[in-house]
Amino acid sequence: TKFKSLGLNDTLLQAITDLGFETPSEVQDKAIPILLKDDVDLVALAQTGTGKTAAFGFPMLQKIDVASRTTQGLILSPTRELCMQITNEMKNYGKYMKGLNVVAIYGGASITDQARAIKKGAQVIVATPGRMKDMISRNMIDISKIEYCVLDEADEMLNMGFYEDITEILSYSPNDKSTWLFSATMPREVATIAKKFMNNPIEVTV
Ligand code: AMP
Repeated sequence: TKFKSLGLNDTLLQAITDLGFETPSEVQDKAIPILLKDDVDLVALAQTGTGKTAAFGFPMLQKIDVASRTTQGLILSPTRELCMQITNEMKNYGKYMKGLNVVAIYGGASITDQARAIKKGAQVIVATPGRMKDMISRNMIDISKIEYCVLDEADEMLNMGFYEDITEILSYSPNDKSTWLFSATMPREVATIAKKFMNNPIEVTV
């Protein structure tokens, strides 16, 4: 299939077949081969509904080590709804990855329950910035070993006033991680974030 030629492995291809995805969307076609390479930063201009969750989700899942319980991937998204939706999609995409643990972290729900879920070992965390910052500063979450960080709907997160939270969260993450930024629009604030936190990002527009 076309997904195979993008470089995705059989474990993911099996899940893709189950989901009924037949051809990659434009953002998937453009971003997946780039993100499967090592050490790339990416800025993708893509609206919701373009299949961007899979565009960053498949490569992240292919790259993480499920034999380890260390948190390796972080996805920041603006709202609780989006956070839950991305978590669901990641679980679906990774349904054949034995030992995969994807945990959602968002406000308005029990922090104790979320801390307990994290303690079991989450290779991937999908989070809203406010609650994430809280839990990191309370030593409930350690992101010092993450290798991949997605800033999803970056323009929305900045509109909602999450700049400070994002900056603080990223200060707890390693400098040598890869950062993948997705945004529907590219206002100056998003360009500033890209400049501050990314190294020569490859740009993709759909
Ligand atoms: P997103 O833009 O990530 O919110 O995705 C929008 C919807 O498209 C989701 O319901 C996905 O499950 C679905 N989707 C993503 N990629 C594909 C694809 N290649 N073929 C068919 N549906 C897809």
